[in-house]
Amino acid sequence: MGFVPTMGALHYGHMSLVEQSKRESDVTVVSIFVNPKQFNDPEDLRKYPRPIELDVIMLNEGGVDAVFLPEVADIYPPGDTNVIDFDPGPSAETMEGKFRPGHFIGMSEVVYRLLVIIKPAQLYMGQKDFQQFAIIRKLIADFKLPIELVMCPTVREENGLAMSSRNVRLSVEARERAGVIFNILSSGKILFEQKGHASTIQEIALDALHKVSFDPEYFEVVNGYTLDPVQSIHDADQIVACCAVKVEGVRLIDNMIWKEE
Ligand code: AMP
Repeated sequence: MGFVPTMGALHYGHMSLVEQSKRESDVTVVSIFVNPKQFNDPEDLRKYPRPIELDVIMLNEGGVDAVFLPEVADIYPPGDTNVIDFDPGPSAETMEGKFRPGHFIGMSEVVYRLLVIIKPAQLYMGQKDFQQFAIIRKLIADFKLPIELVMCPTVREENGLAMSSRNVRLSVEARERAGVIFNILSSGKILFEQKGHASTIQEIALDALHKVSFDPEYFEVVNGYTLDPVQSIHDADQIVACCAVKVEGVRLIDNMIWKEE
């Protein structure tokens, strides 16, 4: 069984995970659950889009075998105050962890609870949320869960903007301009391959984002396994540039693998 956990407001990025699961698994299950425990900003939780009827139509058309639509009380029964004994370590403190305190604790809790209920053989997650992927990889390893974690490539809009449920909150004009995030990640990769130093590229990237009046929260170049910052292309086998940028108050995250061995 292949499992694709989501928070709904589905787009083609989610559906690419479904397609990959359908190719590789006998049965594909998708969950839609907007997990209150992973939102540190109540306003972000309130505003999170929930077009559930459309989502179900999309999943039906995509040939999903089962859709799991739990209520909050199904996942967190009243009185159940258990929390998993999982320490994501320093990888949960940087980047998203720094700007969204408690986010990864809440995310790990819900993924664990969903895995216990669904019991999949394969778990499909997007590269789009690279840090999330790295933390779930550690959760599966620490708990020795018999689950294969599969990373699916980021699906992008025509201008390079990573597809996200939050993109609908952007104006047409900002959505178009937000393609610059992908361009910056791509040019950064070239500079890095030409022996550029991560800190110099980081400075250039932040500058370029400010110049187009975007509000970057971070732009980090990290070891893909430990998420520790790296400086040069020789510092790790897998190197990933990750960023979070606020555009019209909407928080967009993206990343690009700059080195893979
Ligand atoms: P979410 O509904 O945002 O929690 O996302 C559910 C899953 O879809 C996560 O594993 C995400 O990484 C993945 N995902 C979201 N957007 C994309 C995208 N543009 N390309 C690939 N995977 C994505």
